[in-house]
Amino acid sequence: MRIAIVGGGIVGLTTAVSLARVGFRPTVYEAVKKPSPLGVGINVLPHAVREIAELGLLARLTAIGVSIEDLVYRMADGREVWHEPRGLSAGYDWPQVAVHRGRLQMMLLEEVQSALGPDAVRFGHALAALRLGETSTRLDFVDRETGAPLQGVDADVVIGADGIHSAVRKQFYPQEGIPKWSGVSLFRGTTLLPKGQVGALMHWTGHSRQKFAGYPISIDPQSGEIVFNWICDLKTAEAGSTPREDWNRRVDRAPLLPRYAGWQWPGIDVQQVVAAAGDVFEFPMVDRDPLPRWTHGRVTLAGDAAHPMYPIGSNGATQGILDARAVAFHLATAPDADEALARYEAERREATSRIVLTNRAHGPDKVLEIAAARAADPGTDLASVFPRAERAQISQDYKVIAGFDPVLLKQRRSYTPQGSSTIPA
Ligand SMILES: Cc1cc2nc3c(=O)[nH]c(=O)nc-3n(C[C@H](O)[C@H](O)[C@H](O)COP(=O)(O)OP(=O)(O)OC[C@H]3O[C@@H](n4cnc5c(N)ncnc54)[C@H](O)[C@@H]3O)c2cc1C
Repeated sequence: MRIAIVGGGIVGLTTAVSLARVGFRPTVYEAVKKPSPLGVGINVLPHAVREIAELGLLARLTAIGVSIEDLVYRMADGREVWHEPRGLSAGYDWPQVAVHRGRLQMMLLEEVQSALGPDAVRFGHALAALRLGETSTRLDFVDRETGAPLQGVDADVVIGADGIHSAVRKQFYPQEGIPKWSGVSLFRGTTLLPKGQVGALMHWTGHSRQKFAGYPISIDPQSGEIVFNWICDLKTAEAGSTPREDWNRRVDRAPLLPRYAGWQWPGIDVQQVVAAAGDVFEFPMVDRDPLPRWTHGRVTLAGDAAHPMYPIGSNGATQGILDARAVAFHLATAPDADEALARYEAERREATSRIVLTNRAHGPDKVLEIAAARAADPGTDLASVFPRAERAQISQDYKVIAGFDPVLLKQRRSYTPQGSSTIPA
């Protein structure tokens, strides 16, 4: 079966490795000419780490990231709203790993090339158009830098993993337009912290109009120096506004600093962290409406192309990794490709649509919204206005919706079909 994967991000590459493990030889077409480790931190939650482990890549993932042990939600004045263990500390069989997005992407690229050969990823191939035929699909590519058309290819199955601005998705939903902006801008960066200044902990503080989130994404094994990834969320426009065109631009940090005066807790002084960071980037918090259908003919969608979501609840990359594993599993086990894509979509589309919508309603960060609404006055006793059981329920409900309730996750069927090969960790 000729399988074309459009997009060589985390999802496209995980799809390629997963397909290789079950005996397919897909080709990945990636728009950029040269791979480079772009981005800052992402979280891979235990339900996706399980998949990385089944691909035999767990040791390599944990070597480039940090196994997160705790999550703390706080109000801006430092009052703790919720604290829970994460990953192995929470009883999962798999850790939660915070990692630099680019390092994870490069690790997956290496694995694709070692499993499928150096030509398995064709860089400099931006998908321009798809033509659905009776038995196969024609893919037309261009060189994005010159606009020159490149030789097209025919594929039996196409998986569109080309991100939030997906050309594959646009082919089937040409009227959809640009992603939807919540009106919140995300300012993000990384800061080097000395050994031991913060633990393997995620900090989530504030509320939807002004938030700070931070967690370590690597620790130098020799010096113990920490790369601390952080995001400052600020409401800068009304929901539904049109965000600025350049969504990944470097910005001046100076206007951020006064907004975060007094935001400090043990190990973290937000002003100091932001002041000492390398480059600071801004991009809008955007998503898209869930789609009524992902699969047209033998073309389907995965990852951000299928279900871009607000970065709330740390599920963006995680859900894409699950898509990658699910589509490979069904292609390996269904009687034919049409049935495989139907099974894949049935399993993943509604599940991810629910997460997109739940994240619009603040996802697990709802505890911060409720705390801010009921206990804005620092003298208010949080426990009396926001019972612990209610907070626990919000956390638990999100885990069920996003597929990482520890009990349900242990019970979930593996995406490794029997008899397929995994490489040792
Ligand atoms: C440059 C970049 C930086 C990012 N930084 C962060 C970050 O710091 N933190 C975070 O949480 N998330 C970040 N993300 C998003 C995060 O990677 C995704 O939300 C998540 O990992 C799902 O990945 P994906 O593979 O579906 O999409 P993406 O990671 O967006 O990958 C899509 C890939 O498709 C390629 N592509 C796009 N259009 C075409 C086309 N027409 N033809 C061929 N290829 C195409 C892109 O170049 C890209 O490599 C970033 C994404 C990108 C592209």
